[in-house]
Amino acid sequence: MFDWPGGTWQDTLRLVLAVLSIYGAIIWVSLIFWVFRDIRQRTRDPVMQLVSVLLVLAGFLPGHCVYLILRPRQTLTELYERSLEEEAILQDLDDQKACPACRRRVREDFLICPSCLTNLKEPCIGCGKPLDYGWISCPYCAREKAPVAIPEPAASHLEGDQATSGHELGGLVRRSPSLERRPPES
Ligand SMILES: [Zn+2]
Ligand SMILES: [Zn+2]
Repeated sequence: MFDWPGGTWQDTLRLVLAVLSIYGAIIWVSLIFWVFRDIRQRTRDPVMQLVSVLLVLAGFLPGHCVYLILRPRQTLTELYERSLEEEAILQDLDDQKACPACRRRVREDFLICPSCLTNLKEPCIGCGKPLDYGWISCPYCAREKAPVAIPEPAASHLEGDQATSGHELGGLVRRSPSLERRPPES
């Protein structure tokens, strides 16, 4: 048999073990730093941070595996970005208008709700663009809206002109059934 180089094999084993333990210690310390930085990106809770660091300090590689399983899935930055995205989505939903009667989605330029026929806007007499009922002038062509003609029928009714109003009513009653009956025949 040949001589063991550099003394006895026990000395060599001791040297190898020393190198391995230094190597392990460097990895250990690095892992602790890594976990410390990682957990600070994921939570602001100091207890969580301390427990995570202690886990790797006491458990080394198995402790690091446990940390990787149990750590919060998202970093604080990711959570913040996600909350911003959700806010943007909610903002988009808010921007889409809803029908005041049936709460279904309607577009900004709808004159009536297509689902329940509620009047939403009125067309401008100048340019035809949809106008809010509260506006007194068209913002697109600057034309003023015609004055609202609701009080006139009430005034004529108060004057006691019942002959014409009764006549109109009769005309409406006579006309409407024929309009209703026509579509099924054709
Ligand atoms: Zn509606
Ligand atoms: Zn207009």
